Amino acid sequence: MNEAEIEDDRRQRVELLLSLASGDPSVDVDLTGVPGDPAAVARSVEVGRLMRHVRALAGGPRHPWSELEQARAAANYVEQELRASSLEPQSLGVTHRGVTLPVVWTSVPGSGAVAAGERAPVRSAVVLVAHYDTVDQSPGADDNASGVAGLLEVARVLPRRTLPRDVVLAAVPFEEDPGGFAGSAAFAEHLTSVFGNGIVAAVSAEMLGCSAAPRVTGDTGKDLLLAGYPGTGPVIDLLLAAANAWSTGRVRGLAVPLHVPEIERSDHVSFHRQGIPAVMATDGAEFRNRHYHQPSDTPETLDPQFLAGSTQSLAVGLMALASWGHPSQADRRGA
Ligand SMILES: [Zn+2]
Repeated sequence: MNEAEIEDDRRQRVELLLSLASGDPSVDVDLTGVPGDPAAVARSVEVGRLMRHVRALAGGPRHPWSELEQARAAANYVEQELRASSLEPQSLGVTHRGVTLPVVWTSVPGSGAVAAGERAPVRSAVVLVAHYDTVDQSPGADDNASGVAGLLEVARVLPRRTLPRDVVLAAVPFEEDPGGFAGSAAFAEHLTSVFGNGIVAAVSAEMLGCSAAPRVTGDTGKDLLLAGYPGTGPVIDLLLAAANAWSTGRVRGLAVPLHVPEIERSDHVSFHRQGIPAVMATDGAEFRNRHYHQPSDTPETLDPQFLAGSTQSLAVGLMALASWGHPSQADRRGA
């Protein structure tokens, strides 16, 4: 196939996936008793703070091999902002192709409620990850300062010691070529050593800030899109139900029935490789944002309200996942 044919092939796959994606869960999802008042959490997301993060992060390219200092500055910014939200940032150094950068991560502590049939609380978590590096020459406001900004705002608004599970938040390097997901791969391995098989789902925030006139069939230009590996249907159903119930943002999602390259385009890949149900949340990359990977991917090109809605959707979705199937949810329902 020549380049035009490959491009055409890819576009057809994207259009097919979009035509299958739905804004409603495939089954009834019971959200009764998710603790912590998700509607109030969604309302507390501030668009001004999100855009301030985007502007702070996207002052210039953060490509690890040509703008290492900028990439380091982004990691430092994340650390400082997590601390400002009274969380304890941790750092995991990762070396890839001669460059060392940290995964900056933290855990919003859960309530440690004891699950049915267990004698002691088992540490269990859900994960939100966003990459802070960019391609060479692009300031990466959408890709992916928007994702990191969303993560920082989620860190600020999530309730502490309220949800049954911990919510792990991680900003990672080495997503863009030739990073090969090295940051998230090291982190997913590390996290598995901490939580064992207690990680119920991982979501990658991969561009949260662009709405646009549709450029391919099936895109509304207005929805945050969730794309999961085969088998992630229950996770996507829960994320959709939570967004529909509590977020002003619109979301559509699909557990992709077959393994296609379009679902392998973000750091959730690394969690999937550890056997964790893994989903990407995205505004759709180059099929929506014409500034994708360009020097023109600047803060002014983003849609702040879309970014706020997407962040709300992720915050309440994580709250639902952190309570999912947990007896405290059932207890509250009975109460
Ligand atoms: Zn990206």
